[in-house]
Amino acid sequence: MNPTETWFVQLLQERGTALSPLQLQQFQTYYELLVEWNEKMNLTGITEREAVYEKHFYDSATLSFFLNLDKVVSIADIGSGAGFPSIPLKICYPHLQVTIVDSLNKRIQFLQHVVEQLGLQDVSCVHGRAEDIARLPAHRDQYDLVTARAVARLSGLNELCLPFAKKGGVFASMKGADPAEEVREAKRSLSELKGKLSKVHHLKLPFEHSDRHIIVIDKLGETPAKYPRKAGMPLKQPMI
Ligand code: SAM
Repeated sequence: MNPTETWFVQLLQERGTALSPLQLQQFQTYYELLVEWNEKMNLTGITEREAVYEKHFYDSATLSFFLNLDKVVSIADIGSGAGFPSIPLKICYPHLQVTIVDSLNKRIQFLQHVVEQLGLQDVSCVHGRAEDIARLPAHRDQYDLVTARAVARLSGLNELCLPFAKKGGVFASMKGADPAEEVREAKRSLSELKGKLSKVHHLKLPFEHSDRHIIVIDKLGETPAKYPRKAGMPLKQPMI
């Protein structure tokens, strides 16, 4: 193991996630593909190995510190970009059935390639806007867990993400700096979309020490028929 892999394995192990040599190899291949494809398309501003493992891989995996992923079966990752947080979570928790939704087809093609190269099963990469995909019966009110990292402010994000969560499911929004104001601003969209704030967890990245927050929202009922509004509306005119 190189020094980056050593701390990565150790810190996840301390939080109850043990990585096998195969899983570590999958992270390595993912890193190589990310750097290679990033030369042809805009996937990430971070390419140095240590930083990718900390700010993308470890950061994505922190969701498992607060939610029991052993009990989660299906997960929808909205606006996944280069695959965060869902690909690291899938590597760590191979039983997960993952659906990735992103409106940029190039990123979906990259993710499809990653899934094939890593030999991941039960990962579906869907090209489209969350507002449209959430209208399809196969995706509406279906998922145990919905995730979104760095996609939009919570007031608009609730409308993109909560329609995917089933009644009794959870939406986990991964944020950087203190989201207290965003959470206040999101009250109306939460109640309209049948969401209830459960908890805001705080952590710091292990070396860079920047703040991270995970907003956990419970989905209390089925999505009202009028939501999500037509594509573009949730972020252009968030329910505030
Ligand atoms: N989650 C990734 C991360 O943390 O690195 C990517 C974040 S990137 C800033 C936001 C992503 O959301 C982009 O890939 C963009 O194409 C996607 N996106 C934005 N609006 C969307 C929508 N309405 N439906 C689906 N994807 C969307």
